[in-house]
Amino acid sequence: DQKVKSDIDIAQAAEMIKMKDMVEKLQLHEEEWEPYGHYKAKISLSVLERLKNQKEGKVILVTAINPTPAGEGKSTVTVGLGQALNKINKKAMIALREPSLGPTMGLKGGAAGGGYSQVVPMEDINLHFTGDIHAITTAHNALAAMLDNHVHRGNELKVDVRRVTWKRVLDMNDRALRQVVVGLGGPLQGVPRESGFDITVASEIMAILCLATSLKDLKARLAKMVVAYTADEEPITAKDLKAEGALTLLLKEAIKPNLVQTLENTPAIIHGGPFANIAHGCNSVIATKMASKLADFVVTEAGFGADLGAEKFLDIKTRAGNIDPSLVVIVATIRALKMHGGVPKDQLKEENVEAMKNGLANLEKHVETIRNFGLPHVVAINRFIHDSEEEITTLTSWCEQKGINVELADVWAQGGQGGKALAERVIHEIDHGERNFQYTYEIDSSIEEKINRIAKNIYGAKGVDFSPQAKKQMAIFEKNGWGDFPVCMAKTQYSLTDDPTRLGRPEDFTITVRELKPSVGAGFIVALTGNVMTMPGLPKEPAAMKMDVDENGKALGLF
Ligand code: ADP
Repeated sequence: DQKVKSDIDIAQAAEMIKMKDMVEKLQLHEEEWEPYGHYKAKISLSVLERLKNQKEGKVILVTAINPTPAGEGKSTVTVGLGQALNKINKKAMIALREPSLGPTMGLKGGAAGGGYSQVVPMEDINLHFTGDIHAITTAHNALAAMLDNHVHRGNELKVDVRRVTWKRVLDMNDRALRQVVVGLGGPLQGVPRESGFDITVASEIMAILCLATSLKDLKARLAKMVVAYTADEEPITAKDLKAEGALTLLLKEAIKPNLVQTLENTPAIIHGGPFANIAHGCNSVIATKMASKLADFVVTEAGFGADLGAEKFLDIKTRAGNIDPSLVVIVATIRALKMHGGVPKDQLKEENVEAMKNGLANLEKHVETIRNFGLPHVVAINRFIHDSEEEITTLTSWCEQKGINVELADVWAQGGQGGKALAERVIHEIDHGERNFQYTYEIDSSIEEKINRIAKNIYGAKGVDFSPQAKKQMAIFEKNGWGDFPVCMAKTQYSLTDDPTRLGRPEDFTITVRELKPSVGAGFIVALTGNVMTMPGLPKEPAAMKMDVDENGKALGLF
């Protein structure tokens, strides 16, 4: 029975093609790629220059309704749809984020798709891959070291050590490092100050790598990062520390996109993986661009649900990368709809048509959101084995009555074959759907106005409460010249509100913005609603406890 095989068993049985054959299919020139072993490759940025006049392929964004804690299968549907498009003879590529080691060692659940819709080699993708995340860790910590050294060597820039915002990072879930004191041990060991660690994927450098359009742009963005303030609250940047050249040098390989493949040999680029809360949660602009030059269709995803990931993809990433999206796929699962309809998490496998109907309001809101962006869309029902026929037909007929395009996607169990109907529908809607893409807000409107528009139009809130601190910060940021950035909302992914327990489609609520954070190099202002964890911890039974490797080097128990 294929259905009970684990993701890693399926992945290890894959018949991969070698990269030298894959790049031939993509018509890359010899000097445009470098093999990282047989099944991974880095693609040179010169491809973008060579193909600069080439027409771009259509970009398809995969998003979802508000998820259950297990995830609703956006990566799985992204991979499955890419495979399905190839099955119906379309030239399609996939662009995905690179998984962080923190969640890999912590919670069960990879970020390389699932079942028969996965990217491979999955062990490599989930563990170190081509070293990009390590390069970001090193660049980030190099800047921290230069900053502390500057303070130690006389502090010409007048860094107020109580106002250092640049922490250190590590790609691991390690709660013991959240708050630390550095520089202890006397005059030779530096200046003592409080600091802490974030997980690497929460580093601003990760967000920058994913929004940069070239090596030059990368350097310009790195230079602008704010690392600390003086006692008068004047910002101090990486450029003030003369660090941007070294940081760019450390990232010169990491900026090149990584080529791999799916279980069905569909080419996939996996590059960059910023946090989806304090950053924008999408793979790199360069990866999406490159895929759109090399294929006629690019299927890509954005983290969390349409209220967070899709909004940031459409309002932040498309602006930074000049990307013109063609269509949005909204993934829904029967189990998540039942959860929105009031069913407790441990009963989601049982049939409950009424509860599912009650949960449909959540899906309806996300469909409205994508409609308001003016983009064609298709709802993809990611099929689980426990879904009943009645639940599925109730869902599809509800969509049809409402005039919402819907298709069942059975890509987890069947791979590309199970996504052919979805692929056909996607192509049909790209060709015939109504399209009038518009952003949620004007980039030059005030920070307050931008947040208000997101809260009202995307979340369905009646308004926004700004804390006194947030109000003060908005004024300072505008004075510092950071007013014309897009806003990156940090909000719970489980609810349209800022309260994770309010499921479905809540009405009559306000969003509270507690604090703002400037990511000047990334080029966005983070608006924090509720507490955002930038260094996760391990659960009681970390997934790492089940992992092993056999005497031949084969990974065991990864997922
Ligand atoms: P997301 O990208 O939305 O977080 P993923 O695609 O990573 O979700 O899927 C989350 C987990 O759920 C993965 O372990 C995946 O194998 C599993 N999964 C996804 N779709 C299905 C499905 N239809 N049936 C069973 N398991 C699934």
